[in-house]
Amino acid sequence: MNLSNIKNEALLQNTKNLIKEENRLLAKILAHFLEIDARKLYLEMGYGSLFLLAVKELGYSEASAQRRIEAMRFLKRTPEAGPMVEKGNLNLSNLSLLERVSREAQATHAQSVDALNLLQARPASAAEAETKLRQHFGLKNKKRIVQIEMDEETYQLWQKTKQQLATPRDAEAIKKLCEALPKTNSQTKVRQSPEGRIAGRVLRRTLLNQAEHRCEYVSPITNRRCDNTHFLECDHKVPYFLGGKTLQQNMRVLCSEHNKFVCQEWRGRS
Ligand SMILES: [Zn+2]
Repeated sequence: MNLSNIKNEALLQNTKNLIKEENRLLAKILAHFLEIDARKLYLEMGYGSLFLLAVKELGYSEASAQRRIEAMRFLKRTPEAGPMVEKGNLNLSNLSLLERVSREAQATHAQSVDALNLLQARPASAAEAETKLRQHFGLKNKKRIVQIEMDEETYQLWQKTKQQLATPRDAEAIKKLCEALPKTNSQTKVRQSPEGRIAGRVLRRTLLNQAEHRCEYVSPITNRRCDNTHFLECDHKVPYFLGGKTLQQNMRVLCSEHNKFVCQEWRGRS
């Protein structure tokens, strides 16, 4: 499929249409799962569970099979969710999350139906959706597992810091470490030679605080600001190679993808 000649508007519209189709398909697949489960067809096929049939016969990965089965169970107990799936107002992750949280809370049917409205507002992230649902069902907040990728040097530094804190519990160590971080004053005067290209530590920290540790790219088409909070870089508004200075007023925070994107645009123009 060669899409390189399609105009941007058409490309976006086609993608939106395909997603609508994908949502309809998901609703259909879940309905099929429901029927297979009701007939216990997996037993007839020689599998001990619907999960095994989904993985070994239907070819889903274990995680994908698990999510679909959880989604199906929620739909079985809460058929009101069906039309929302079809319309794309309720995605697979939220459905499986609904199943896990409502089961843990031993929720009533009415509580589960109410929970659907909570997710209509499209929470920003899976973590936010989970927090909302746990509150709704009166459950305690779950302990979070955080996975962080880091290079060897940072890892060694982290290990050393942990040792210095001399506390056996990791979460406690993290708390102490965060509390020990100096509170930065956004009004701090930033002294840096404007001639160097790389923003120094103080300037970088000031810029990051100013940007609330989030990419500052705003789309000129949709006015939407990027949500990225990872791989943030300090970018020159007027590029360094065009004489832009490394001064606070000429700097902003961009995620690495937007930094590359903006840089390509400048290079295309100059
Ligand atoms: Zn960005």
